[in-house]
Formats: sequence, C-alpha cells, structure tokens
Amino acid sequence: MTNGIRLVLLGRQGSGKGTQAVRLAEHFDVPHISTGDMLRAAVKDGTEFGLKAKAVMDAGGLVSDEIMVGVVQERLAQPDAAGRGYILDGFPRTEAQARALEAITSTLPLEVVLNLEVAESEVIERITKRRVCRSCGRIYSVDTPPADDWTCDTDGGEVVQRDDDTEGAVRKRLELYAAETLPLVEFYRAGGQAVEVDGLGTPDDVFGRVIDAITVHQSA
Ligand code: AMP
Repeated sequence: MTNGIRLVLLGRQGSGKGTQAVRLAEHFDVPHISTGDMLRAAVKDGTEFGLKAKAVMDAGGLVSDEIMVGVVQERLAQPDAAGRGYILDGFPRTEAQARALEAITSTLPLEVVLNLEVAESEVIERITKRRVCRSCGRIYSVDTPPADDWTCDTDGGEVVQRDDDTEGAVRKRLELYAAETLPLVEFYRAGGQAVEVDGLGTPDDVFGRVIDAITVHQSA
C-alpha cells in the first residue's frame, strides 16, 4: 500500500480528469472527491439545494464559491480524506476557491496539483461523444460503450449523456474554465505544487505519464 496523497486535478471539461481521478484514487488508495458527482447526487436526491444546483449546472454556470467551499470543507474533514488524503476533482475552479482550499489544508497542504493538458478543439469532440452511468458515474464514450446495450459494466446502471453536455452549456463551461480556472495553474506553479501532463492518448498512456510525473515531483 502506498502512503496516500493529497492531490488536486485540474483540466478542461473532457480532458479525461474523471477517468484519471478514478485510477489515481485506486492507485493511492484514497477517496475520489468529485464536486460534480456530489452535486449530481444532490440533484438525484431531489433536495432543494439539488434543484437549485441543477439549474446552474444545466446552463453551464458555476455554483457559488461559498456553497462549494462549505461542501468541500465538510467532505475533507471526513476520516477517510483527513487520514490518507484524497484526489480532489472539480475543485478549486476559481481563485476564491483556491484561496479557501489553502486555508482549509493549512495543516496538511496539497502535495500535487496535476494539470491535464488537452486542447479545446479535442475536448469538444470528446465531450460530444461522452456518456456516463446515471448511478455510479462511470465514464464511457460512443467509441468505447459498455458491453451490453448502454448498461453500465460496473453496476448495471443506465448509461446516458449528461444533461449539461449540450453544445451551449459546453461552450459556456469552456469559457468559464479559461477565465476562472486556467489562471489557477499559474497560482500553483508559483506555489511549486503544479505538475503538468499531456492528456492526449489512451487512458493507459496518460495514466503512465501521470504516475511518472508525480514520482518525479515527489522525489524532487
Ligand atoms: P463537473 O462534473 O466537474 O464538470 O461539474 C459539473 C458542474 O457542477 C459544473 O459545470 C458546475 O456547474 C458545477 N460544479 C462542480 N464543481 C464546482 C465548483 N468547484 N465550483 C462551482 N461549480 C461547480
């Protein structure tokens, strides 16, 4: 068993972040904390918060920093994450979130901020083809569907297109990424936590590159 890790994943929508996050969580034996998955779970539960979040998500907007910081702070305090660490996927997305995360993690700071680099033209094609399991969130593509008629190989859930993977919402999300999230790469470069990896290629190729880059970073 490895020593765990405290890692944040940055990358455009469709960069393969979710896929790599699942593999990293398994590799380092830490929880995969995806703010998008947490919001989608709230939507599915039909809570008042979930309904409000759904409207923002379907339009490709961002849920408020205040709410997201609260959600993440609570989740990182759970024993699994507070102990061995976590793979944080989808947070921070704004400078205010990054600064709040710095305060939340002041006693056990982030070790690695991994930026998966994939060009905008490539991610648009990937997102259009993306399909996800409604119940467990496993990610597929029309090029690599589940074995049996859009039924998830992991838990038998229905595999569908995300409600926010429409063209208009995707364009808005990419604009917000460029304006709000991309500047964070510079923020973490300055802090010495940034590790940058080319996200083009098969998930296995990318994962190999990711592990190599983390190993180099940790031994530096
Ligand atoms: P994702 O699955 O990471 O693409 O997230 C799906 C949607 O959830 C985003 O387009 C946002 O509307 C919302 N969301 C997820 N994480 C955050 C965050 N850290 N801050 C604000 N909104 C978020």
